[in-house]
Amino acid sequence: AQRVADTWVKTTCGYCSVGCGMQIGVREGKVVTSRGDQNHSVNRGKLCPKGLAEHYVLNAENRARYPHLRGKNGLERISWEEALGTMAGEFRRVAEKYGPQAIGVISTGQLVTEEFYTLGKLVQLGLGTSNFDGNTTLCMSTAVSGYKRSFGSDGPPGAYEDFTKAEVILLIGANIAENHPILCQHLDANTKKTLIVADPRVSKTAMMADIFLPVKPRSDLALVNGIAHILIRDGLIDREYIDRHTNGFDELCRFLDKYDPEYVSGITGLSTELLERVAHLYGKANGAFIGWTMGVNHSSKGTETVNAINNLALLTGNVGRVGGSPFSITGQCNAMGTRETGFTSSLPGYRKFENETDREELASLWGVAVERIPTQRGLAYPDIISAVLRKKIRALWIIATNPLVSFPNIDVLKQALGELEFLVVQDCFHPTPTTVLAHMVLPAAAWGEKEGTYTNSERRVSKVNAAVPPPGEALSDFDIFLRLAGELGCREELFPGWKEPRDAFEEWKRVSEGRLCDYSGMTYEVMEAYGGIQWPYPKNADTAPTAARRLYTDGVFETADGRAKLICAEWEPFPEQPSQDYPFVLNTGRTVEHWHTRTKTGAIAILEQIAPRAWLEMNPVDAKRLMLRPHDLVDIVSTRGRVRRVELRVTEVIAPGQVFVPFHFAEWNINEVTQDIFDPISREPNYKQCAVRVEKA
Ligand code: SF4
Repeated sequence: AQRVADTWVKTTCGYCSVGCGMQIGVREGKVVTSRGDQNHSVNRGKLCPKGLAEHYVLNAENRARYPHLRGKNGLERISWEEALGTMAGEFRRVAEKYGPQAIGVISTGQLVTEEFYTLGKLVQLGLGTSNFDGNTTLCMSTAVSGYKRSFGSDGPPGAYEDFTKAEVILLIGANIAENHPILCQHLDANTKKTLIVADPRVSKTAMMADIFLPVKPRSDLALVNGIAHILIRDGLIDREYIDRHTNGFDELCRFLDKYDPEYVSGITGLSTELLERVAHLYGKANGAFIGWTMGVNHSSKGTETVNAINNLALLTGNVGRVGGSPFSITGQCNAMGTRETGFTSSLPGYRKFENETDREELASLWGVAVERIPTQRGLAYPDIISAVLRKKIRALWIIATNPLVSFPNIDVLKQALGELEFLVVQDCFHPTPTTVLAHMVLPAAAWGEKEGTYTNSERRVSKVNAAVPPPGEALSDFDIFLRLAGELGCREELFPGWKEPRDAFEEWKRVSEGRLCDYSGMTYEVMEAYGGIQWPYPKNADTAPTAARRLYTDGVFETADGRAKLICAEWEPFPEQPSQDYPFVLNTGRTVEHWHTRTKTGAIAILEQIAPRAWLEMNPVDAKRLMLRPHDLVDIVSTRGRVRRVELRVTEVIAPGQVFVPFHFAEWNINEVTQDIFDPISREPNYKQCAVRVEKA
């Protein structure tokens, strides 16, 4: 009875990008429970285990409550006035001594859109640095780059409705049964579909498939090229669509010539019969949908793999069609909002850095000189870390992310952070592996304690609300940004009269008006009434807020000539092949109980009890050869480091020669052994394949 709430506050889940609507139960001023929102279009009252337990995050013991500054006795409590005054002073000192580009900022897909929009302006126009990126580069930048190259702009073209309307659904490197559980339930509503899952591991999603494609690690690009080869060879393409809406078809045909079933079978390990069957199912479907997540994105060939996926959809006229889409399933609750509001991969509103008209328009909207708008993006996340190592960046501000667990080849990052003159970490938890290294820690409000909006994978913008105030002296990220702007002397110029997130939202609506990601017709009230609205939603939108919206339904793309690009993307083996000393291919991933670096879910007893420690999956053939038994403790070793005493699971879900470890656990941090190799286009890490050996501990 103690858990019964006297008030229910509507909001949106703060974990994954599915974007479930939920309600937080409050009793006598304390958060006591959470439940799904029956009226929200995404989840209709359902929540996964993380969502159901999300309210526990707010009462966690390790919440950050007060600003701290490193002194003689380590991190010591200070006032907000001292914290923000010191921070502004340090940033000013570094800018004067080394130039403003010596300041770096790494943020997150955890902020609400209003905060991210405010932060972008503050960093670019207030601090004057373009060396600004987010942890989204560790998960989604590949999808962004791929969409931009193929279609001229970022923006997933499809809608969740396509999961229920498609005749064929091809999931590549996407374990949505664990990582997007409520989205996975949309599949259940579609009884006529054929579900095809390509994955090197028999994931929970693979177990649901009509056809499972157990591809060799990193052979996805060859698989997709092979399907395209068969589609063209057998005339299963939409020639009229290709001629009217794309460039590059003849070149692509010549390029794909060698990707015949025999060649692709050798790379993927799939039979030629299976390849032919899958290609024909895809090519003949009236609505063929391709979804992907980190199996594709976490690759040094990720962007090109996305381009090859986009090719398939373009060749068959599936872009913008009901039930058909090349659809990147996002990671974090608001990765999409960070992409739209910009200064990392694009300027706000998907404007292009290199486009003079775009820059002038933005400068005019903001009433600033166009010279203050950058002509190219600053350093991406891994390049900010390299610049810190080379002492080109001297001050770093890390916001709501925990790179000491999430960054690949963690030793390099540790070395880099040790070089900094000033490191500020702003987070709702302290201590974390990252906050303990900081010169200053700023305590932030968490989900459930602040207001704004999140945009989910299908471009649906949903309202986020505060149920309770933050603990101690913690402030919302929005308030921290405005107060720092005050200390820097730019608050009135950049944020005139702003007091609450709604002020940022109203300006963002004007900045997005007329753009692909048009929010101008949205209001908080309509959003809440209808369970979120998909963009584009212009003023006087001619469809109901609830309508499914798709992009490029008219075949006109965001390129200079309006045509999409068919791109030749060559398969190549992954960079670090197994050897005698390191004979296994390591794959990393997630589990349903935990969220990213476990800062939040590690503080929730019910989730910790279910999944308290990391494990390593190994095939029985390999375990027998190494004389290992289930539950043995093993060390995982690469040329970069060693992870000690991980529990062994012996299972046929993993193929011989491969091993799998979840990446959530700081205590068994698998990023001690992963490699810092990055996609040259998106700068996303190649987390998915590296060579390791396994030793009995
Ligand atoms: Fe939250 Fe994602 Fe679970 Fe929905 S599926 S409750 S958005 S974590």
